Amino acid sequence: MSDNVVWEQPDNLMEFMSMGDFENVVFCQDAASGLQAVIAIHDTTLGPAGGGCRMWTYLQYEDAALDAMRLARGMTYKYAAAGVNLGGGKCVVMGNPFVDKSEGLFRALGRFIDRLGGTYWTGEDVGTTLEDMVYIRQETPHVITLPEEWGGAGPISAMTAIGVFEAMKIAVAYQLEQESMEGLTVNIQGAGSVGAPLMQLVLDHGANVRVADINQQALVPWSAHPRVEIVGVDEIGYAPCDVFAPCALGGVIRRENLERWNTRIICGSANNQLWDAKLDVALEERGILYAPDFIVNAGGAIFDADRLGPGGVNHARGEAKVRQIGATLRKILELAEKEHLGTFRAAEVYAERRIQSVGEATRLRKF
Ligand code: NAD
Repeated sequence: MSDNVVWEQPDNLMEFMSMGDFENVVFCQDAASGLQAVIAIHDTTLGPAGGGCRMWTYLQYEDAALDAMRLARGMTYKYAAAGVNLGGGKCVVMGNPFVDKSEGLFRALGRFIDRLGGTYWTGEDVGTTLEDMVYIRQETPHVITLPEEWGGAGPISAMTAIGVFEAMKIAVAYQLEQESMEGLTVNIQGAGSVGAPLMQLVLDHGANVRVADINQQALVPWSAHPRVEIVGVDEIGYAPCDVFAPCALGGVIRRENLERWNTRIICGSANNQLWDAKLDVALEERGILYAPDFIVNAGGAIFDADRLGPGGVNHARGEAKVRQIGATLRKILELAEKEHLGTFRAAEVYAERRIQSVGEATRLRKF
């Protein structure tokens, strides 16, 4: 991988294939269970490809394959930048997660994963659950995300929130030249599995919170807090604040809404926050520091993958790695400044350089 590799996202399968940087794309079919799935393995320089198993109502194989490939490439970058020794992969199952699931389907998928010989390790993702992972585990040991009684790390969203908070503190120090969160205003979009524990951390450190959620129930626990203001979903992005933390949806930052952001920092857990990767530079021109999503939200993935280390699950070791996210973000912000890159691009370059240097070291070891 060179520094010139731009994380492009083709919308056409043949174009994607012709980029030539995928190691393996497997189309899986099992007539007995009705399984139709695609497993994409992007890059295994750092270790076996890790990445969750998504179940979604894709209309055709091409859509499923494109999604698997985009997501697999994203995992390569996420793990590489986070210092995890895994490559990037993803599995997508075509079907409605509410009606099409069965033990047979996931066990058939498990057999396909097993045939890949440990080059791909799966996990929970949108549309799949820990119970589904247990079915897969009966056919293959190559499952990262499992219930604790099966040797897994347990719930990970609180760890993702810790990682976001570690990143936020560094972003505040860098952009606002302030070592504490005291008195700042943080706008949080989405009080879900990550947003809620993040809100608690922010409040515990003396900041004020503005929060919005489409689900009013999610806001009930916060309604009486003296430093929490509940606002409408249309208001949360644009109400003046020091930090905006998108913790709900992707694609919230778009060229057409760029002028409306009234914050100094964007740092949250949502995946694919930038509609277009080049918006990092446009944000910087408006005086807004963008903390790259795949660096900031890696806490859960880091914690989950720690069980592959010596001795299996070790919560203290896993959390210590998650807390390194702040230090990683600092290195990326310094790289961006030194090499005149947008922060998102700097995060990609940081990941690519780790893959390149480890790849070279491994080649030297082999000869
Ligand atoms: P979640 O479903 O538990 O919470 C999301 C919350 O956002 C829900 O309460 C939902 O009602 C709310 N919401 C949805 N649309 C909204 C809108 N337009 N405005 C305001 N609120 C809205 O999900 P989560 O696990 O907390 O994940 C949040 C984001 O972080 C997602 O983008 C997810 O992909 C990403 N992420 C999560 C993890 C993790 O460990 N859970 C890890 C990495 C990335």
